[in-house]
Amino acid sequence: MNSQSARYFSRAQKVIPGGVNSPVRAFNAVGGDPLYVVKGHGPRITTADGRELIDFCGSWGPLILGHAREEVVEAVAKAARDGMTFGINTPREVEFAELLCSLVPVMDQVRLVNSGTEAVMTALRLARGFTGRRRIIKFDGGYHGHSDGLLVGAGSGLLTGGISSSAGVYVDEGDVFLPAYNDKQAVSDLIDAYGDEVAAIIVEPVAGNMGLVPPVDGFLEHLRAEADRCGALLIFDEVITGFRFGPTTYGEQVGITSDLTTLGKIIGGGMPLAALGGRKEVMQRLAPVGDVYQAGTLSGNPVAVAAGMKTVELLVEENPYDQISNVGKKLAESFQGLETNCVGAHNFYLSQLGGVFTPFFGRGPIRNLAEAKACDTKAHAAFFHAMLDRGFYLPPSQFECAFISAAHTDADIEAFISAVQDI
Ligand code: PMP
Repeated sequence: MNSQSARYFSRAQKVIPGGVNSPVRAFNAVGGDPLYVVKGHGPRITTADGRELIDFCGSWGPLILGHAREEVVEAVAKAARDGMTFGINTPREVEFAELLCSLVPVMDQVRLVNSGTEAVMTALRLARGFTGRRRIIKFDGGYHGHSDGLLVGAGSGLLTGGISSSAGVYVDEGDVFLPAYNDKQAVSDLIDAYGDEVAAIIVEPVAGNMGLVPPVDGFLEHLRAEADRCGALLIFDEVITGFRFGPTTYGEQVGITSDLTTLGKIIGGGMPLAALGGRKEVMQRLAPVGDVYQAGTLSGNPVAVAAGMKTVELLVEENPYDQISNVGKKLAESFQGLETNCVGAHNFYLSQLGGVFTPFFGRGPIRNLAEAKACDTKAHAAFFHAMLDRGFYLPPSQFECAFISAAHTDADIEAFISAVQDI
């Protein structure tokens, strides 16, 4: 209770609602006071109390190269020295857009924005403007940022109009349909009933906001076919998955063409930067050439672009994906057959893909939100704290992904496994 973090939290609660600038940073799901961090290098963060932790949250996904990677820091410092923002076009924005479009061929054009929320909000507006339709299909438990139309997801079922899961948001009944993730039939039923009113099917191609839930075989292909059947756009929200499993999008890797793609996290290299891109005829509907409005004082900010560009360049150059994925596999294998109080005493399922993982305290496989919600969140909270006590920082919720970065070494993973065994 007398820790620096606890002191900061107590001060913060007086001047910041709930003491945090984003609700996920509070420890509401796991209990206890949230941490305050003063620095990070490679896979490690240092708390305000001087504790060093191995970080598997990675700022919720951007830090695939680890904290404060030297080349990225240098690029940021250099860009900042040349001016933080102009509100006028800069050459690097053009170079970055060219780089992104070349690495993600499904994107003919791209627009840079400041956050994943903005990217998805704009993609949706664009889909509605392009199709002239207003209904959308999103999946229950899918998170696409906090714009009004997408804060729908709590408790509504197939073929019923979604209701908002936040106060202050008014979404017309039927604007947002909420089938279960991985439920092909549910999508077909919706398209049968409402196909000519659906502007877009929006999906995280690998779900990451109910914990890690990969798509079942044929799910994404099915969405492509159903979008084509009714003339809706298919939006892949790749804010988590983009550049996560290779130097491109997940959609490109599995060969499924989305009409629009949203990117964030990794492509900003730790700075506030995100993007939406897609087919030229759709993207051309954006202002100033088109009639769908979107803008931003800091969009394409030179310092953020410098960080993003350097990060993407390093990912292309170093291609750390096999290494990261091997570490992920090793971690998953090590969990198998572990007999510890925390893990062995419960149904336990480690969901893992590449360098992304979620320890689910429930029976696997987990294919949708209902199955994720059936997990034992108290057991997860106990696991989180047991690992924190042993020097490992995991996302403080059952319904999030942990991330392995290129900076994590075999020794870090071995230490992590020993800690799990020690619980
Ligand atoms: N889409 C997805 C898939 C996300 O995971 C997130 C954030 N976790 C967002 C959109 C929103 O991004 P941001 O927090 O940058 O607004």
